[in-house]
Amino acid sequence: MRSRFAPSPTGPLHLGHAFSALLAHDMARAAGGAFLLRIEDIDQSRARPAWEAQIYDDLHWLGLSWDGDVPRQSDQMARYQAALDRLWAQGLLYPCNCSRKDIAAASSAPQEGTYPQNVPLHGPDGLIYPGTCRPGGHSDRDPQRNSQTIPPTDTTLRLNMKRAAELAGTRIFIESGQGPSGETGTITTTAQHYCDSVGDIVLARRDMGTSYHLAVVLDDAAQDISHVVRGQDLFDATRIHVLLQQLLGLPVPLYHHHRLIRDETGKRLAKRDDARAIAKYRSEGASPADIRQMVGL
Ligand code: GLU
Repeated sequence: MRSRFAPSPTGPLHLGHAFSALLAHDMARAAGGAFLLRIEDIDQSRARPAWEAQIYDDLHWLGLSWDGDVPRQSDQMARYQAALDRLWAQGLLYPCNCSRKDIAAASSAPQEGTYPQNVPLHGPDGLIYPGTCRPGGHSDRDPQRNSQTIPPTDTTLRLNMKRAAELAGTRIFIESGQGPSGETGTITTTAQHYCDSVGDIVLARRDMGTSYHLAVVLDDAAQDISHVVRGQDLFDATRIHVLLQQLLGLPVPLYHHHRLIRDETGKRLAKRDDARAIAKYRSEGASPADIRQMVGL
């Protein structure tokens, strides 16, 4: 078993992160396996070296040790680009110039756009893209399709979900934890679900040259992760990840989505919840055992 913890150095680790890291660590160690760490810093506008240093410090303090080097996503851009090139060559990507405002406007007027009716407007990444920039009329034999060179890295690239879902078909993954509605066991996502409830997601953001979804599947494969242990908030994103794994010829790990740590009002903790930062509990004299108790481990 090889599990991992993959924090973003964009703020302090809080109790929710501690739960995720401790669980992934304990599951791997109980099985005599490896526990890996990686720094998810593709959002360079928000990542800070000081937060990264604090992550190592907090994890050591919690009593966690990890195996091997700690890759940083910002050092892996060539690998992400190679994957985008591959998807582009398959005719699965297209450039998009829409702003969030454009998408909201098009989505709120479905009768004027190409958006089909009676399907959910929100997918795992927010509003489902209404298809404004999607190229139409290309058949699979279109000689133009693969001859264009991939646009420069400062272009937003979307996945043509209809084409991707046709190619990948129904996808499954094995869930040993639970999704937000209690989903567990074999989780099936049909091509229809991908088209109606996920849509044309962004795989390369203008300001990043990649996206969370693309980077995470490539990195889990590069680190040879057998078990992805993470919060239930990412359960629906996993449907996207298993699709990308199929399109890119990557293995599908087992998934374990765990409950979320919430504040007293029931809201899930966010990076800005400094009140629940591990560093704050540390400064107030809490012990690692106290943190384990607080998260129910
Ligand atoms: N980097 C993500 C976060 O900080 C976690 C991604 C994952 O576990 O797949 O929430």
